Amino acid sequence: MKVAVSGFKGRMGHEVVKTILKEEGLELIAVLDHKPKEKNICEIAEFSTVDVPVYSDLATMLEESKPDCVVDFTTPKVGYNNTKTIIEHGVRAVVGTTGFQAEQIAELRKMAEAKKIGAVIAPNFAVGAVLMMQFAQKAAKYFPNVEIIELHHDNKLDAPSGTAVKTAEMMAEVRDYVKQGAEEEVELIEGARGGEFEGMRIHSVRLPGLVAHQEVIFGAEGQGLTLRHDSYDRVSFMSGVALAVRKTKELETLIYGLENILD
Ligand code: NAP
Repeated sequence: MKVAVSGFKGRMGHEVVKTILKEEGLELIAVLDHKPKEKNICEIAEFSTVDVPVYSDLATMLEESKPDCVVDFTTPKVGYNNTKTIIEHGVRAVVGTTGFQAEQIAELRKMAEAKKIGAVIAPNFAVGAVLMMQFAQKAAKYFPNVEIIELHHDNKLDAPSGTAVKTAEMMAEVRDYVKQGAEEEVELIEGARGGEFEGMRIHSVRLPGLVAHQEVIFGAEGQGLTLRHDSYDRVSFMSGVALAVRKTKELETLIYGLENILD
């Protein structure tokens, strides 16, 4: 499969380039950055033996390099438009960029189905994080009182994380709305109780040194349960990205969430 990487100079995009270069059956044919200094990736010392053109415009890259699939790890501001452009060109998409609204995903799914092409959007490509979300969904049925603490590096642009929102959405599927905390609770500092999703509280921590981490803490009469996943290195997301790239070949719709393509 001919694969192009959008956002190749970012922390995730850089890891994706290394992954595509070493995965059997996947060929890196183009990369995209919005303000590149290079014309070819070989101008970057680490990739000096690789001959792959660098593009600054997504539509031009799609039309000239004709990839089978584009992997996008850019920013929440451009992720939606990029995905739309990729699908409009009839090209398969694997999107790790976060910040998508439910309506945007629904619209992109319609477009993918109309074009009969596969796409995967996943807020977290780490298998361990997906298992944490599934375990959280299972536990939420029995423990409706739950709070999420997500912890990320301090360059992250969106809060809460896509993983935290997805976890809350999955728990909301099996849990009735419960307003948590004391009825007359007062926040002495605004935001102290975090953001609210269906009565569940989500807290976002941003610190240098972190990569991507999340705790889901359940509490009930006389007992507690804590689930925690840590991505210590961005390599943790790569097996999921490679799986999604291959999976798009078999799909004629857009799948949201890695859990929906794991065997
Ligand atoms: P990052 O290091 O800031 O990388 C984003 C890259 O995209 C930067 O190089 C940025 O360039 C570039 N960019 C911005 N606008 C662009 C455009 N229009 N076209 C092409 N490139 C553009 O961020 P990151 O840590 O790699 O994260 C990227 C996204 O992935 C975020 O949304 C993050 O939340 C998400 N993420 C997802 C997962 C997952 O498993 N799904 C895991 C980790 C992170 P400049 O810096 O020059 O603006």
